[in-house]
Amino acid sequence: MKRTRVLIPKGQIEGRISDLAAEIRRDYRGKHPLFLGVLKGSFVFMADLVRVLNMPLEVEFVRLSSYGSGTETSGRVKMAGGLGVDIRGRDVLVVEDIVDTGITLSFLLDYLRNQGPASLKLCALLDKPSRRKVPLRIDYLGFTVENVFIVGYGIDWNEQYRYLADVCCVEEV
Ligand code: 5GP
Ligand code: MG
Repeated sequence: MKRTRVLIPKGQIEGRISDLAAEIRRDYRGKHPLFLGVLKGSFVFMADLVRVLNMPLEVEFVRLSSYGSGTETSGRVKMAGGLGVDIRGRDVLVVEDIVDTGITLSFLLDYLRNQGPASLKLCALLDKPSRRKVPLRIDYLGFTVENVFIVGYGIDWNEQYRYLADVCCVEEV
C-alpha cells in the first residue's frame, strides 16, 4: 500500500516563493519576460509564482515527455505539439517542477537557445542534485530534496496526488 508524507508544508512553499519572486522581480525590472512552464507538473508552482510576482509577464506552457514510462527519464525527450510561441529576442524563464537527472531540462534549454531568445534562465521548485547526470545551472531554486519520489503541489504519481497542497513523498507501507 502507498502512503504520502509531507516533506515541505505549504506555508514553507509560500515563504520560499516570496523570496524567489523578490529576486525575479529585481532581475527582470523593466522587461516583459515570457514564463515557459513545463507541463504538467509546474502548473501549480507557475500559478502561485506569477500571482506573487504581480508584474508584467506572459505565460506559455510546453509539454515534454521522455519515451517510455516508469518513474525514470529514459534519456530521450520529445516535445508534444512544438513550441506555440516565437521566443526570438524574448527574455525567457523556464519554470519547472523538479530537476532530477537534468536530461529533460538540458534538452529543452538547448532547443530554446537555438531559437535566439534575448536571455534564457531556469526556475525550478525542487532539485535532486544527487541524481544529476547532465550538468545544469538553476538560476532560481525553491528547495533541494533527497532522492525520494515527490508528489503533491501539482506533481503526480500516475496522475494521482496533484491536488495535495504540500510537497510530499510517496512511501510503500
Ligand atoms: P530529469 O530529466 O531531470 O531526470 O527529469 C525531470 C522530470 O522527471 C521532472 O520534470 C519530473 O516531471 C520528473 N520527476 C523527477 N523526479 C520526480 C519525482 O520525484 N516525482 C515525480 N512525480 N516526477 C519526477
Ligand atoms: Mg516535469
